[in-house]
Amino acid sequence: MKAKEILKQMSPYKPGKQIEEVKKEYGLKNIVKLASNENPFGFSPVVKKELPNLISQLELYPDGYSAALRDKVAEKLSVDPTQLIFGNGSDEVVQIICRTFLERGTNTVMATPTFPQYKHNALIEGAEIREVQLVEGYHDLEAMLDQVDEQTRVLWLCSPNNPTGAHINETQLLNVLDRCPEDVLVVLDEAYYEYIEAEDYPDAINLLDRYPNLMVLRTFSKAYGLAGLRIGYGVAQSAVIEQLDPAREPFNTSTIAQAAAILALDDQKFIEDTFKRNVSNKHALMEFCNEIGLNYYDSEANFLFILLPMSGDQLFQHLLSKGYIVRSGEALGIPKSIRLTIGSKEDMEHIQSEIKNFMELYHAGAVR
Ligand SMILES: *Cc1c(COP(=O)(O)O)cnc(C)c1O
Repeated sequence: MKAKEILKQMSPYKPGKQIEEVKKEYGLKNIVKLASNENPFGFSPVVKKELPNLISQLELYPDGYSAALRDKVAEKLSVDPTQLIFGNGSDEVVQIICRTFLERGTNTVMATPTFPQYKHNALIEGAEIREVQLVEGYHDLEAMLDQVDEQTRVLWLCSPNNPTGAHINETQLLNVLDRCPEDVLVVLDEAYYEYIEAEDYPDAINLLDRYPNLMVLRTFSKAYGLAGLRIGYGVAQSAVIEQLDPAREPFNTSTIAQAAAILALDDQKFIEDTFKRNVSNKHALMEFCNEIGLNYYDSEANFLFILLPMSGDQLFQHLLSKGYIVRSGEALGIPKSIRLTIGSKEDMEHIQSEIKNFMELYHAGAVR
């Protein structure tokens, strides 16, 4: 068999360690996964309660247009229903964007490190990837704009950026949109939107009327806690959605995911609760880092990117042996770091004391 040339140089996505795997390996009973920025507080109890009622008529295909969810999201965002596209996670919307706009001879501009699926999908389409180093965890927007040329089709902005957590403020976003050519799609991935505290954060949905080349991505996987159901969406002007829709699978989101997402949107109390707990636990972690002298990047998300004096793999291994799965920076492009999802208060207190122990061992020369 002869696969596409490019695929020979690529490998499948390597997820963080799985809970069952670690249980077996270390003989531990309780494992806490703080590696993929999932919601440590679960998902809306309303969804949980209603879930058994959502499984009727599974013999039928889902509504390929997601009409009910579409209307719900359109109302919530005050956009027209034709401005939305739903995906099997926003991952799939990324894939649809790449299928639609990228091919050999085109290029696409993104930060590095950033969410890996932009590059992954763009490579499969044969596009040239132009990556621009982050500065202190932030997008270097000037350098990114410098990379845009006649062949550029998509510019990716991840805000807050995964894996660093740093955001793009309103002035910066407007500057990019005003200077980027109108035939370059500017994708603003807001997977962590519900966690944002910053006052200078832009209301990007509100800018869609003004910028025909802006697209915003959101997901139910992070604050809404529905990562296992796989549902996310993109918002843009209708003309953009019309371009994308032919590249979408006809029944790409499931009946259950659509129904659960509608219920989840109605339970904003869960989101407020999640937001508050994240703010409090994140600030406590930042305070802890300040106290023990560890630097970290600014974060508007539900994770903190902590800079270390040693390889992230070392702290990763130490925490793993204590039952905590985190993400080592080795896998994320900044080797001396870890990315830590903000967990429950109790887990964060445990993990902080384990980090403290580890750093003491390190300073005593017991860890090299
Ligand atoms: C988690 C994540 C996504 C993907 O979310 P799904 O909707 O689960 O596919 C997209 N973008 C960023 C930046 C993420 O961190």
